[in-house]
Amino acid sequence: MTQRRPLIAGNWKMNCLRADGLELVSALVAKAAEKGSLGCDVLVCPPATLLSDVVNAAQNSAVQVGGQDCHAETSGAHTGDVAAAMLADIGASYVLVGHSERRADHDESSTVIRQKAIAAHDAGLIAVVCVGETEQERDLGATLPVVNGQVAVSVPDGASAKNTVIAYEPVWAIGTGRTASVAEVAEVHAAIRAELVERFEDGDEFRILYGGSVKPSNAAELLAVADVDGALVGGASLKVDDFWKIIETCA
Ligand code: PEP
Repeated sequence: MTQRRPLIAGNWKMNCLRADGLELVSALVAKAAEKGSLGCDVLVCPPATLLSDVVNAAQNSAVQVGGQDCHAETSGAHTGDVAAAMLADIGASYVLVGHSERRADHDESSTVIRQKAIAAHDAGLIAVVCVGETEQERDLGATLPVVNGQVAVSVPDGASAKNTVIAYEPVWAIGTGRTASVAEVAEVHAAIRAELVERFEDGDEFRILYGGSVKPSNAAELLAVADVDGALVGGASLKVDDFWKIIETCA
């Protein structure tokens, strides 16, 4: 069976002023240094304003840094947006694309998300492509077709396990305190894995993260599910002790 190194990724969303962000990343860097070897890769995705500071604070540490979004174009008249090459230029190595909050707040379609993932790859970044069903879609029994459809369109043909991570995040579990059950997570991750294996030569090597109210108390059981190769963590990534406990679950 393919061994996949887990990835624990923190999505800070639109939180943290400079001092808070620096305190958070510095504490994480210190814990990682004290521990030495970690059982997973660690990523933090701060808001764009803090990327440069966080990259500097995390230099030569086990903590990698990513953007929360990028534009599909390389440059131009896109006020307020950030190009993937700009993220790479300041030292980010990952970028989230297609987070459900972007899909909902900015009307982003899976087609746009595929273009963003391609832009990320072209800039040398690893794209974390987020997918997940709404509560209404789950209630209608449409979870698998919705999620498989999002993966089919959002993940570009040029994707590989080296440049792409999938994050399954049921929308109804994000920031709500509700978590998908182990059986629900297992079913969706298996369906995503089957789709990746059918489409990509290295489909078995892609990391598939679970996200949605992951916290220290549920991380171990979620991370033990087959085909769960890490977590995308929102709220709990803002508290260094909680985020660290989730990281330690992979030790
Ligand atoms: C997220 O923002 O991707 C997320 C999963 O948030 P939370 O952990 O707070 O549900």
